[in-house]
Amino acid sequence: MVTATFRFYEELNDFLARPMRRRAFSYACAPGASAKHMIEALGVPHTEVELILVNGESVGFDHPLVDGDRVAVYPKFEALDIRPLLRVRERPLRVLRFIADAHLGGLAPLLRLAGFDTLYDNHYPDADIEALCVAQQRIVLTRDRELLKRRSITHGCYVRTLKPREQLREVFERLDLAGSAQPFRLCLMCNAPLRRIAKEEVGARAPDGVLERHNQFVTCDVCRRVFWEGTHWQRMRALIDSVAGAPERPD
Ligand SMILES: [Zn+2]
Repeated sequence: MVTATFRFYEELNDFLARPMRRRAFSYACAPGASAKHMIEALGVPHTEVELILVNGESVGFDHPLVDGDRVAVYPKFEALDIRPLLRVRERPLRVLRFIADAHLGGLAPLLRLAGFDTLYDNHYPDADIEALCVAQQRIVLTRDRELLKRRSITHGCYVRTLKPREQLREVFERLDLAGSAQPFRLCLMCNAPLRRIAKEEVGARAPDGVLERHNQFVTCDVCRRVFWEGTHWQRMRALIDSVAGAPERPD
């Protein structure tokens, strides 16, 4: 056995057993155990980790630990600028695409509303989520930390809050999404692109009153729903503006 000293920072402490939170502690590891293996053995999914320092040096997940190592583990998207030290992942994802697990059925349409391509199906088995994450370079959003321990899931975010609006705010803040939001680009239901259409094409897909009051319409070519800038749209716009910047007003 080898013994290493660990210290986890910020929200990573939420995953640890209480006596190990927010302090350095010694832990016995199997000889040759990797940093990733030990971090996950202590309960922290590797997708939550952005930076590992061993004796002050940035290392990758597969770094083998030896007796006496001091291991510092930092979360993803920490406000502190750790970029020059990053070695855990070679490069960040350039296009932000998501796949949401079965517990996030309220969050998925809100992300689509904000313009982020988000796959969601409440029947996806974990293996399908893993495969789609890899094949389509999607970030896994989940409330299941076991899912994030799967080896080939490299980008993931453990969602801590329970209500969809709070989840949207949490994901926006942790992944710094405000600058990338493009509201009303995707269909909330289908995750398909919305396309502008002329009023004459709307036909019976919107009530007469709406046709009289509005001039701009978009449609989804998958479900053929039509959307316009009504009160629902304005409420959604306010929600997105609020998570992207100013503190949210109570309803
Ligand atoms: Zn649609």
